[in-house]
Amino acid sequence: ERAQLARLRRQPTRTKDGVDIRLYANAESREDVAEAHALGADGVGLYRTEFLFLKRNELPTEEEQFLAYRDLVLGLAGRVATIRTLDLGADKADRTGLALRSEPNPALGLRGVRLSLAHPDLFLTQLRAILRASAYGPVRILVPMVSGREEMQQVCDLLDRARTSLQDEGRQVGPVAELGAMIEVPAAALGLGDIVDLVDFVSVGTNDLVQYLLATDRNHEALAELYSPRHPSVLRLLSEVFAFGRRNGIPVAVCGEMASEAANVPLLLALGLRDFSLHPSTLLEVRKAVREADLGSLRRRATTLLRCHDRAAIDRWLQRC
Ligand code: PEP
Ligand code: MG
Repeated sequence: ERAQLARLRRQPTRTKDGVDIRLYANAESREDVAEAHALGADGVGLYRTEFLFLKRNELPTEEEQFLAYRDLVLGLAGRVATIRTLDLGADKADRTGLALRSEPNPALGLRGVRLSLAHPDLFLTQLRAILRASAYGPVRILVPMVSGREEMQQVCDLLDRARTSLQDEGRQVGPVAELGAMIEVPAAALGLGDIVDLVDFVSVGTNDLVQYLLATDRNHEALAELYSPRHPSVLRLLSEVFAFGRRNGIPVAVCGEMASEAANVPLLLALGLRDFSLHPSTLLEVRKAVREADLGSLRRRATTLLRCHDRAAIDRWLQRC
């Protein structure tokens, strides 16, 4: 079976009925990027920048960040690099003193874009580093934990400031860096229309979206059964988000674990997803599942899927694929 999978390295990610699906990689190291490239990923769909801030006592400088991002861009040889801005918080605390060490509800606290906006100078440093790296290949900037327009507007303003300051210094900046929001707070999923003019793409973070939609801690052992993307309300919300993207010409990816599981492929295709972002370790399995899928028939079965009343019915729907 390994050898069979290995043969898929050079095969297109195309459904049985001939529709091309994009598979981007989630990456946070040079090894991940090399692996993604070797497996024929369409690019990196989620580059987690937290690693630059963890396990150390001082903040990374602009130069250090720039070199890491440029490395990523060059390693992808022309394929798109989606760089997520810092997603730290008391849930993923660093030692630099940036994130709060503890707060009563870390998942609902000062994390993601909230933390970045609370430290605009540090945020500008990161944005400048990303813009500088964008001179070396296609780059998209992805903002985590967005809940509404105000935050996205502030990011746009800071991005303009970062670009202007670089231009004033005569530094090289890429022609465009597309801007996108992570959709992981339910309010953002329901409020896509409020930010649509400020984003070029969105990426659904199902790890957090499931946590917030089901009010279920993603790391709570006793709640592992409840914490599942196969909840009817999760599927309905995803279907709305994908449909919004189609109607408005906004590319929508899923970058949560949900998209890394080959077993979920029929479900996500049925709901209308075309762009997956997943860890390279399961990329070939997911490609295999896509190649075995008949998109037309899955799309016709979406109505039945969206009428499922519980997880068992969703599992039965999947068994019939
Ligand atoms: C997510 O929330 O689905 C996601 C991809 O981000 P993280 O797991 O880093 O919170
Ligand atoms: Mg998240």
